[in-house]
Order: sequence, then structure tokens, then C-alpha cells
Amino acid sequence: MSELDKRSVVIIGAGPVGCALATLLRRQGLEVDVFEREEEAAGSGSGNSFNLTLTSRGLDCLPRPVRRRLYLQGSVLVKRIVHHRDGAISTQPYGTTDSHHLLSIPRRVLQAILRDHALRSGARIHYGRKCVAVDTARPAALLEGRDGATAWVQADLMVGCDGANSAVREAIYRTHPEDMWVTRDTIDHGYAEITMEYRDADPTGMHLWPRGDHFLQAQPNRDQTFTTSLFKPMERGAPRRQFSGLSSPEAVHAYCASEFPDVFDRMPEVGQELMSRTPSRLRIISCAPYHHGRTVLVGDAAHAVVPFFGQGINCSFEDAATLSGLLESARSGARYADGAVMENIVEKYSGTRVAAGHALAELSLRNLQELSAHVTSPSFHERRALERRLHEQYPELYTPLYQLVAFTSTPYDVAQQTHRRLSSALFFFSLTTL
Ligand SMILES: Cc1cc2nc3c(=O)[nH]c(=O)nc-3n(C[C@H](O)[C@H](O)[C@H](O)COP(=O)(O)OP(=O)(O)OC[C@H]3O[C@@H](n4cnc5c(N)ncnc54)[C@H](O)[C@@H]3O)c2cc1C
Repeated sequence: MSELDKRSVVIIGAGPVGCALATLLRRQGLEVDVFEREEEAAGSGSGNSFNLTLTSRGLDCLPRPVRRRLYLQGSVLVKRIVHHRDGAISTQPYGTTDSHHLLSIPRRVLQAILRDHALRSGARIHYGRKCVAVDTARPAALLEGRDGATAWVQADLMVGCDGANSAVREAIYRTHPEDMWVTRDTIDHGYAEITMEYRDADPTGMHLWPRGDHFLQAQPNRDQTFTTSLFKPMERGAPRRQFSGLSSPEAVHAYCASEFPDVFDRMPEVGQELMSRTPSRLRIISCAPYHHGRTVLVGDAAHAVVPFFGQGINCSFEDAATLSGLLESARSGARYADGAVMENIVEKYSGTRVAAGHALAELSLRNLQELSAHVTSPSFHERRALERRLHEQYPELYTPLYQLVAFTSTPYDVAQQTHRRLSSALFFFSLTTL
């Protein structure tokens, strides 16, 4: 690659978002080059093996053939199935119509489908190329190859789809700290995957064991397995990263036997698993704006949120569709290589997506309370039932927050504001009318 290597659109990172964006841009006929630090055989994406839940908000941003393949491989979940400590089971529908469901899909399957569509659409994916610096003035990225050699690649538009530890974001922040702010936070909770036998489980719901400040979650797969994760606060000041109170296999067994008695016998390996796997931290990374010059951040590079609303990748696909839509609508008469046109496009993109990303970060953190504790409380159920009745009677006046967030394209920030406004009205309504 020479110093003058010039491309049209360069995407850093061939994770799910980089591949989805590449496909959308290729559909407009743009030349797209994607540079990925991992080797092709290793696959790409964040490397975690958990399932991702997609909702219509994110799915509708993807081309129809991609959606079709995702539905063939994923599991449709229409409700939460709550396992109470006393063995009772209750269910909560995600919405009020058939389209109100989650599509749960293993991350590696999602990644493989999106990569395949990016390649089929004509995007070039270059593996083993790590972005180590960005010059937003050109814009150009410095890429390090397998042999350690580096070379610049220049583009009309440079897109960072390189995940929560984005090198593109860090390069902008390091070189232009006056133009971008970045905050990074971790929460007390961590998560770890464990193995739970499936045995005649209900395959149409997300199974949840909410227990105060911690919970177990199991997502059924098409092959009659569960993808199961424990979310729990971590031990502060421990020599190695571990869940609080779970420092030995015996402690893990005692904990699972008392907290999850109905499925304890389905987790024979749990003691050894939680001792050998270091729980992962959950991070929140926010920044603004999402661009500098003609360099722009999309997906987790722009906003890493905690996963308690299951919307991180849905929001990221919405980012990709927004950027792609702006490029398409500016197409007639405009030359992409015209820097001013491109700068205007990315400024507009950042203008709409920053508010959405920040609102989602707040909504996601707040939902931890709901998943850990509220879903077992009778008043929570009464409120949800009231919200559903209200929505059925006055759909134009009231839509529950979960539905607005997961199943509409109402911007996250607008959904959040609307919900705040209607919450107090709902309380008054419940006292006086129902
Ligand atoms: C536990 C957990 C559960 C989640 N569950 C859900 C869910 O149910 N629903 C949902 O919507 N979201 C969920 N999310 C969020 C979702 O995982 C992310 O939003 C999504 O993975 C973001 O994709 P991405 O392509 O932006 O980043 P990544 O998946 O991190 O991909 C980034 C890519 O860039 C590459 N890369 C990184 N640095 C460089 C570099 N310097 N040069 C070149 N390449 C580079 C990486 O190798 C990788 O391929 C969850 C997240 C977590 C942690």
C-alpha cells in the first residue's frame, strides 16, 4: 500500500456494525474498503460468545435478504419467563402484537451472516490490518499489517466501527481533545457465561431468574440449547476478578442451590466454570460529537452501553442506516469527494445520533433495576398490565416505554422524554379511572 493509497469509504473494523454499514453503502454503489485487525480465520466482532437480541428497530435497518437469513437462524422470543425463588413461573409478553418480539441469535452466527452479505455486495475486507493512528485532516488511517509494516490509507469518508475500545475515537480525542469529550465508566456488575441444560424448556421466551441485585438469564437456541449468563456485582479489592461471595466452587454451588433451586441440577459444571472463567466487566463509554472532519464513529465506537435493554446493536444498526440514508439523499448532484459536502453529512449524522446514544446509555442502566428486582414485584406487574390496557384502548395516546424503545423507530431520546411526561399522567389516570 503506498502513501497515496486513496479509497472512497474506509471502514475500520469488520464487526457486525462495520459489515452492516459496508452492505448498506455498497447498495448505493459506493466503493467500500474495510480494515480488520483480526485474521480472517479468527472471525471478527468483539469475540464474546453470548446471544444478541435484535428487535424491529435494528432489524428494519438491514436489507430484507439479511433479515430473512437472520430469522432462519435465530429464535423468536415473545415474552419474559420469570422463574421465582419459590419455583413459581410467571410470564410477561414483550408487547401487544406478533411483531413485538425479540430475535435472539448467537453473536458468531450474526457476524457470519453480515460478513457474508458485505462480501457478496462487493465490499473488500482486508484482514490482519490494525488501525494504529488516524489523521482526520485528510482523512487517513495508519494501518499496521501482519509483518508490523505500516502504511496510510486515505478516503473521502473514514468510519470507525472498531468497537468499544475504538482506536479511531481515541485518535480523535488524543489529537483534538478540545473538539471531543469522552467518558468511560464501569459498573459494579460483571457477567459470565455458564452451561445450563435445556431439557424441555419453553423455547418462546427469555428465561430470567431475578434475585435483587443479581440475575440469571437463559436464551433458548434453535438447536435446543441455552445460552446462559449470570449478571452479578463483582468483589471489590479481590486479588483476581470474581463475583462477590463466589471465591470457591463450594461457594458457587451453595449460591446456585439457594438462588436458583429449580434449575440447579441443570448446571452440574457451574462451580468449575465460574472458577475458571473471569467475569467480564460491563462498560459505559460515551462521547460527543461522533465526528471530526470527515471521520465519523458508528456503533460501539460511538456508544458502548450496558446490555440491560438489549439495544446496543439495534442502536448501532440505526446509526449505520442513518449515515447511509444521509449519504444517499445528498447524492444527486453532489460529489462525495467534495470535502464540504461530506463534512456536512457527518455533522448531520452526529447531530441526530449523539442524543439517541446518550439516551440509550441512561435507559440501559435504568433497566438493570427492572431485570434484577422489579420484575418480581406485584406492583410492577400491575403497572405493566395497566400500561398494556391503556395502550390497547388509546394506542395513539400511550405506548409503553419498552415498546417505544424496542419496536418503533421513535428516537431513543424522544421515547425517554415522552415516557417521563406520560408517567406522571399515567399515575393520575390509574388513581382516577381504572
Ligand atoms: C454481555 C453483552 C450482551 C449484549 N447483548 C446485546 C443484545 O442482546 N442486543 C443488542 O442490541 N446489543 C447487545 N449488546 C451490545 C452489542 O454486543 C454491541 O452493540 C455490538 O457488538 C457492537 O458491534 P460493533 O461492530 O460496533 O463492535 P464490535 O463487535 O466490538 O466489533 C468491532 C470490530 O472492530 C475490530 N477492531 C477493533 N479495533 C480495531 C483496530 N484498531 N483496527 C482494526 N480493527 C479493529 C474488532 O476486531 C472487531 O471486529 C451486548 C453487549 C454485551 C457486552
